[in-house]
Amino acid sequence: MEIFFLGTGAGLPAKLRNVTSIALTLLEERGAIWLFDVGEATQHQILHTNLKPRRIEKIFITHLHGDHIYGLPGLLSSRSFQGGESEVTVYGPKGIREFINISLSISQTFLKYPLKIVEVEEGIIFEDSGWIVEARLLEHGIPSYGYRVIEKDRPGVLLADKLAAAGVKPGPIYKKIKNGEAICLEDGRILNPNDFLGQPKKGRIVTILGDTRYCDNAVYLAKDADLLVHEATFAKGEENLAFEYYHSTTSQAAKIALRAKVKQLCITHISARYDRLAWRDLVAEAKEIFVNTDISEDFKVVPIPSK
Ligand SMILES: [Zn+2]
Ligand SMILES: [Zn+2]
Repeated sequence: MEIFFLGTGAGLPAKLRNVTSIALTLLEERGAIWLFDVGEATQHQILHTNLKPRRIEKIFITHLHGDHIYGLPGLLSSRSFQGGESEVTVYGPKGIREFINISLSISQTFLKYPLKIVEVEEGIIFEDSGWIVEARLLEHGIPSYGYRVIEKDRPGVLLADKLAAAGVKPGPIYKKIKNGEAICLEDGRILNPNDFLGQPKKGRIVTILGDTRYCDNAVYLAKDADLLVHEATFAKGEENLAFEYYHSTTSQAAKIALRAKVKQLCITHISARYDRLAWRDLVAEAKEIFVNTDISEDFKVVPIPSK
């Protein structure tokens, strides 16, 4: 489980930072890649990585500003020619369906795989046996969502040696114990599944937010997260500017991380007005408030280790 930054700039492409796209790689966990936003030329960025477009299973769009969606039609189209046959689901604010359908139909693009589009509202937008994704609105002038990705806790590994030692032969019973069921053996003994399972594996939480002012929903979504990805379009001291343009400063992102008690913060959506040298200052001023802060760069990988 890793975050792979494909684009980390604000507003328009710059030499050092392309516009926003973030891949959450869940290759070991579910053989999938989830994308968050698809700024222009995201597919070009992917060409410089080992990420396979056919692995993209879900795409979460935070909001409909061009720097977050102009790469979407091209990426969806190319995936057909890159071995993509499995279904893709795109989640995004109201309007994303029209944007995709019009782009694909006017350009006479026919996908070779099923495409599902879900226009989200606040709440749980996806859940299966292993994962939950929750969305909440942020403050950005137009609807902008933040996404909280929750990996469910998983039962511990089956202690087969211990079962064998207790005289239980491999068979359907093993599966029942793995699923946490108590078992009554033929000889009358009752097996408590917890005695034959290792420590449950705690799931991880990753929070990826769209563009936003400093707001309480950011804290809600990031609560106790292992990693928070928060925009920081402006430097500390530019709070008025940030407010006026519905963005955040480095110190505001750090304050959210502190309030939400996250483990790690990575700031992104960095304006082109800041050069390489200034990036160091941006991190430093965020660290004054939240120590475990890092700054994104295009092609940077941030691992989210299991607990
Ligand atoms: Zn933006
Ligand atoms: Zn925006």
